[in-house]
Order: sequence, then C-alpha cells, then structure tokens
Amino acid sequence: MARRMSPIADEAGRSGPERSWPVWGHARAAAAFREAIGAGRISHAYLLSGPTGVGKRALARAFAQAVLCQTDDRMDAGVPCGVCSACRRIAHGAHPDVEAYDLELQARLAERGGKNTGITIDTVRQLRAATALRPMEGSRRFIILDDAETMQSPAQEALLKTLEEPPPLVTLILLATDAEALLPTIRSRLQIHELGPVDERTIVAGLNRMGVAPERTQMLARLAQGRPGWAIRAANDPALEQERLATIEQAVEWIAASRYDRLVTAIRTGDAFGKRRDAVFADLETALGVWRDLLLHRLGLDDRVAFPTHADRIIALATPWTTAEIVRGIGSVQACLADLEANVRPKLATEAMVLQWPNSATAG
Ligand SMILES: [Zn+2]
Repeated sequence: MARRMSPIADEAGRSGPERSWPVWGHARAAAAFREAIGAGRISHAYLLSGPTGVGKRALARAFAQAVLCQTDDRMDAGVPCGVCSACRRIAHGAHPDVEAYDLELQARLAERGGKNTGITIDTVRQLRAATALRPMEGSRRFIILDDAETMQSPAQEALLKTLEEPPPLVTLILLATDAEALLPTIRSRLQIHELGPVDERTIVAGLNRMGVAPERTQMLARLAQGRPGWAIRAANDPALEQERLATIEQAVEWIAASRYDRLVTAIRTGDAFGKRRDAVFADLETALGVWRDLLLHRLGLDDRVAFPTHADRIIALATPWTTAEIVRGIGSVQACLADLEANVRPKLATEAMVLQWPNSATAG
C-alpha cells in the first residue's frame, strides 16, 4: 500500500508529531494523544487548560479527528488526514459524533435572556444526555465542554456523576482557562494537559501558511503573546490589531501618569470589574506586560519584550526608576490579579496596586 505524507504536514516538510497535527504548537500534548490512540488507550475524560485563544478547542478537535478519521492508509493512526469527510466535518463543527458546549451555545439555547456568566446545571444535564447516545458514524463520541471554569458547584456536581460512571465509547474533553476553578473531585478524574503559550516562530509559520501578508505576520505574532487563536482572528479582522495597540497605549499611559491620574484610572478600573470582568483582567495583564517589558529593557533583553511596538516609550518611562522599583511594580500587578481572583473588593485591589508604583517623571 502506498505510504504518503500526511497532507496536513507543514509546508516546510518538517516532520514530527506537532507538525502533523492541525494545531499550532502544543507538541507535548499532541504527542500524548497520538500515543494514546496508537496504544488504544483513550481516556474517558480530559481537561485542556490554558489562556483564551491558546488553542484548546483546536487541539480537542484535532484529537477527535485523529480518532474518527476515515482514511485507512494513514502513515500513523494517531494523525488525522485532514481531508476526509469526517476530518472536514469535525473542523466545521458538523460531525454527529463530536458535540461542543460553551457559553455561547448556552445563551442561544436559553429561552429567556439573562445572565450567561457560567455553564449551568441545565447545560450539564443536556451534556449528560448526549453522553448516553451511541456513536452514529465513528468508533467513539467526543463531547467538548468549553468555558468549564465558569461552572458553579451545582453544575460541577452534576458533571461529577457523569465522570463517576463514564459511559462507554464516549470521551469528554473539558476546556478551561483555569484548572483550579474545578473541584478536586472532578480534576482527579481527568487526564490534564496544560497548554502554555505557543512560541512566536510557530505562530509566524502558521500565519504564513494562511497566506497573511509577510509585513503583518511578525506584528500579529508579537501581539498574540502565544495565543494562535488571537492571531488567526486578528489576521481576519484588522480592527483587533488596532484595538490591541490601543490597549497597550492605555496601559503605558496609566503607568506614565501622575499619582492622582493613576488613582482615578484605578478606581474606574475597579468599578468596571463587576460588568467587564474579562476586560479588566485583560487590561491588567497588559499593564503587567508593560512592567515586565520595563524590566526586560533594563536587563538588555530587548528581543524578549512583549510590546516592541512601544519600546521607545517604555524605555523612556523606566529611566528614573531603579530595578528594584520596577520589580515592585511587577509584583503590585500580580498581587492585584491574585486579589481579584480571590474576590477582594476590586477598587481596593486596584488602588493598592497603583499606590506601590514608583513616581513617574510626570508626577512632579
Ligand atoms: Zn481524515
């Protein structure tokens, strides 16, 4: 039988498990899945954790493709062909044996509008019912639950029942930004893969394969900060790139401001937390990135900075500060993020943060 290269191998012809899977990066997790498929030891439940846009959903889908792929003469049974009907339908979310639940779907199915801030017990019940079905076409069913970190305890306890009596021929894949948000009893029943940021070279290569203009790839890969999902969305929507640049600009302005103006922004940010939780976290992560860049520039590691687009301003900002003051700035933002996670009153957390920042040159 003719052996051939997997059609989804990367264009440079490099081989290896991570390059054969239709995902950007995450070689270790992909290799583990490939091995499990090869050995016929697919678990009943997995958890993929990592930041939004890092590639959790893509990896879950690739896993399902690898198992349900209909091409028989694959070089490696653990690698999907990417072109058969099953692979294509999974990629488009149209395969009957691969179902995905998330907040967006939940909102669409809800009879009444209202808060949609967490996966509900109703959604978990639907998911449970789905796990009872036999595979329609393939050898196995895959049920993907995204936004799993948003489940409150009752929803998690309902899910636990499914995990305690795993239905045969079903694999449940939970996707979460934060594994710690899940009950230990749930975590202990999951095979956990933590997905870290994808390196910039891999993102550049992916954008090149997508046909993105070469003058944009470097900037998009930089701004993506290890999240291919963001890079892909931004490649298709230039407004995202502008928004990101504006957010960085705001963070630099915040740090460059006088004590008074910093406090005003801190209070405004704290006030916004209730309604725009994710946006506030994103703004603070950006501020943390600026502080880290201050330190990297100070240490001469200019090629490692997150925001090379703002390097001149960031370097100027740091001029009056000692390294110890910069380190204190980094610590203050990390503490604020931890406080917000721990439900400290938002305004207290953001105010305490800016009060630790060293005076800027404009503070007078
Ligand atoms: Zn296939």
